[in-house]
Amino acid sequence: MKAIQVLTPGGPESLQLVDVPKPEPGPTQVLVRIAAAGVNFIDVYFRTGHYKADPPIAIGSEGAGTVEKVGEGVTEFKPGDRVAYAMVRGSYAEYAVVPEAMLVKIPDHVDFVTAAAAMLQGMTAHYLTHSTYPLKQGETCLVHAAAGGAGGLIVQMAKMLGARVFGTVSTEEKARIARQSGADEIILYTQQEFDAEVKRLTNGKGVDVVYDSVGKTTFDKSLNSLRPRGMMALFGQSSGPVPPLDPATLNAKGSLYLTRPGLAHHVLTREELLWRAHDVLKWIDSGQLKLRIDRTYPLADAAAAHRDLESRKTAGKLVLVVS
Ligand code: NDP
Repeated sequence: MKAIQVLTPGGPESLQLVDVPKPEPGPTQVLVRIAAAGVNFIDVYFRTGHYKADPPIAIGSEGAGTVEKVGEGVTEFKPGDRVAYAMVRGSYAEYAVVPEAMLVKIPDHVDFVTAAAAMLQGMTAHYLTHSTYPLKQGETCLVHAAAGGAGGLIVQMAKMLGARVFGTVSTEEKARIARQSGADEIILYTQQEFDAEVKRLTNGKGVDVVYDSVGKTTFDKSLNSLRPRGMMALFGQSSGPVPPLDPATLNAKGSLYLTRPGLAHHVLTREELLWRAHDVLKWIDSGQLKLRIDRTYPLADAAAAHRDLESRKTAGKLVLVVS
């Protein structure tokens, strides 16, 4: 089968299309014929070596397709089932072996590209808005990169929960896209001091929570944007890692809470995974949640997808169409 692998971590050119044997599912594992694979920053981190893995490094942490074969002891799935998953590496390939416990069935009306696009960023937006800081009616949140893949979904879920949403973006075009997702106030953080804007728009109070995926360039001002005892949820670092922090800063800026959450710790049980995945897929199926697929690529063009994701030019999701 064809698969994308990294032998030596590096730039997008290190993503190599190779021929490898089709894998066999072991006990409690399922062989999935991949139809589409979502492209995520976590794939970039494995490609560059920022996240460590032994070469050859299988790339891709999100996929959708059809069950081809099941291993011993698999009870929930059978050949022919339409399935999707996240947080199992190796989806940039024609086939992937996935633990049964990580798979979910796709509703009939949801296509493979949509399902592959929904899982990782959708469940991330879900845990941030429902678990990390469960938003309540009338509360306020600041979402960075609000026209991005994760950002656009956080904005929509925050609105579903009745929050007032402030979104930052880099361009007027992205401002339009973030408004379409439902953001109430848009700040062009490339032109304005977003912390001052947030304070002005909240009459000096600050927001209840910041969902910050940008990291290095936004972190300090995100802390400035919070109300006393507000929550800083730093969940990514698209602009680079945040330098070490003196905990006294959190006191000085208002007894703030700081967390650095990850999806893996928010799908710890089958029950929790199904709660989040079913909510996301159900909302997509009913039209309550809209996915913005920015671009699709053939598997062989994975490097182009990575270049685009890192270029800051995309708005929404990038997907590899495998078969
Ligand atoms: P996005 O679609 O949000 O793309 C990144 C966006 O970040 C850009 O479009 C850009 O928006 C903004 N950005 C600001 N500065 C930079 C920069 N220097 N270089 C590149 N982009 C920049 O990507 P994703 O939604 O896939 O992921 C966003 C972040 O969230 C990543 O860091 C990812 O690792 C993290 N993440 C974390 C998860 C978790 O559970 N912890 C799960 C999923 C994602 P603009 O032009 O508007 O500034």
